[in-house]
Amino acid sequence: MKTLRLILGDQLNLKHSWFKQPNEEVMYCLFEMRQETDYVVHHIQKVVGFFAAMRQFAEDLQAQNHEVIYFKINDQQNTQKLVDNLTSVIDKFDIAHFEYQHPDEYRLDEQLQSICNSLSITSKAYSTEHFYTHRNDLSNFFKGKKQYVMENFYRDMRKKHDILMVAGQPEGGKWNFDKSNRNKWKGDEQIPTYKQFKTDVSDVVTDIEKAEIKTMGRFETKTFGYPITRKQGLEQLKYFCEALLIHFGDYQDAMHTNETYLFHSRLSFAMNLKLISPKDVVNTVLNYYHSHKKDIDISQVEGFVRQIIGWREYMRGMYWMRMPEFKLENALENKNTLADFFWTGNTKMNCLKHTINNSLDNGYAHHIQRLMVTGNYALLTQTDPDAVDNWYLGIYVDAVEWVQLPNTRGMSQFADGGKIATKPYVSSGAYINKMGNYCDACHYNKNKKIEDDACPFNSLYWNFLDDKRQFLANNFRMKMMYSVLDKMKPEDLHQLKNKAQHIINNQNDY
Ligand code: FAD
Ligand code: SF4
Repeated sequence: MKTLRLILGDQLNLKHSWFKQPNEEVMYCLFEMRQETDYVVHHIQKVVGFFAAMRQFAEDLQAQNHEVIYFKINDQQNTQKLVDNLTSVIDKFDIAHFEYQHPDEYRLDEQLQSICNSLSITSKAYSTEHFYTHRNDLSNFFKGKKQYVMENFYRDMRKKHDILMVAGQPEGGKWNFDKSNRNKWKGDEQIPTYKQFKTDVSDVVTDIEKAEIKTMGRFETKTFGYPITRKQGLEQLKYFCEALLIHFGDYQDAMHTNETYLFHSRLSFAMNLKLISPKDVVNTVLNYYHSHKKDIDISQVEGFVRQIIGWREYMRGMYWMRMPEFKLENALENKNTLADFFWTGNTKMNCLKHTINNSLDNGYAHHIQRLMVTGNYALLTQTDPDAVDNWYLGIYVDAVEWVQLPNTRGMSQFADGGKIATKPYVSSGAYINKMGNYCDACHYNKNKKIEDDACPFNSLYWNFLDDKRQFLANNFRMKMMYSVLDKMKPEDLHQLKNKAQHIINNQNDY
């Protein structure tokens, strides 16, 4: 009498205690399914990356003498639905007990609970053994609090896990080196060659084409650049420590027309599929730092560690604390459609052109491109957060809902009314110009407001503040901007609003 264990596509953790030794009584299953490829239009590289990593993971388990059943997307016995695939495998192999790891996505969590309730055999759920925190740790941490400030959680994590602490105090005398992490990159620090894996995935691409799965984005090379195995994930991590950590913090927020990744790690895909864990990442970075202290400043390391034990764990906690209502929130009542150029990159706005083309070419954009270029524009044009979510959930290779949704709907679109961000992340062209060189070669002029060649972000910004006054004017952190708006001459505001409305109504002409 056998046990069947399900492994989802983002649960490829070879170090999980399940796999310590093979057991004749246990069979593992992995399914490539239309239920997962079709709930949103995904980037072609994302679908390819998931399937390639799943196939390799199944092979690695088999090489360790685990029994594995794998359904490829075009296999005849594949029903394309989790419930039907599980039921048929359970029947066929006379399975007596079913086990799974807690999904990180609410939708799948609900589905698996309902499947287990309907099964006539026993079942059990396990931890994925991936994160530092449990699903509900964050809601317990913030119990009774009105605000959910990431910084408080982050400091607690530093103390609890003794990370960058010296005698109970933060190493370097400060918790936060954000101020030194805001440099524009002007080419003075050389960016090393990117580490691109060249995994041949042409067979996966062929299968996806044969299945006629609708995808977006570009993938000319058919060699996959991000890690698809634990070994590759660890190589990417080592490369990050040796080549990129030294300036990670300095240029964390920088943007440049010639540079796709700057000093970013590109580890999110490997981490989100659980090929490597946040503990692997943090411990490796700290070990490297401790043996290279004379070369690497604390500010670089703190800036990086904050992303992993701070933001990443915090976003997951917020997701579990706030779902399922979170997915429906639209606090600013935004209803406009997303511009067509989000799917093509075809716009004269240079910042958006570069960020969107980077996303279409590589399934990647770094944090500030996501937040202050595409996210900023979508919010300023008052786009329906459902449309914004769908785009972000599809376009990035690292996009899985537990981390995409809090970042998009919460942090970037302020649709949760300020639970994650204390004020909306909106700006005029000035911020984009401060952090990058996009404006230098733009069709639009960053200093103009209403002329034909004026930077669209400038009028959109004031129009947004004026339109959303009822929601934002009492926000303490917005007071200064509203006092500037209040001092504006009515005819000037009128002109700005006309210009902004023209942009919103004709987005695809800009
Ligand atoms: P690095 O800059 O090298 O950072 C290191 C790691 O820190 C990342 O790999 C990631 O695991 C973690 N990290 C950094 N910032 C965040 C954050 N805000 N939230 C959670 N983890 C973070 N990240 C995703 O993994 N999946 C998403 O779908 C996703 N959607 C986003 C949508 C929006 C609108 C925004 C503003 C951010 C989003 N992020 C998402 C967070 C962040 O942009 C990416 O994690 C990062 O760009 C991945 O590239 P990297 O690995 O080179 O990151
Ligand atoms: Fe973007 Fe405006 Fe700068 Fe052009 S001028 S790159 S639209 S911020």
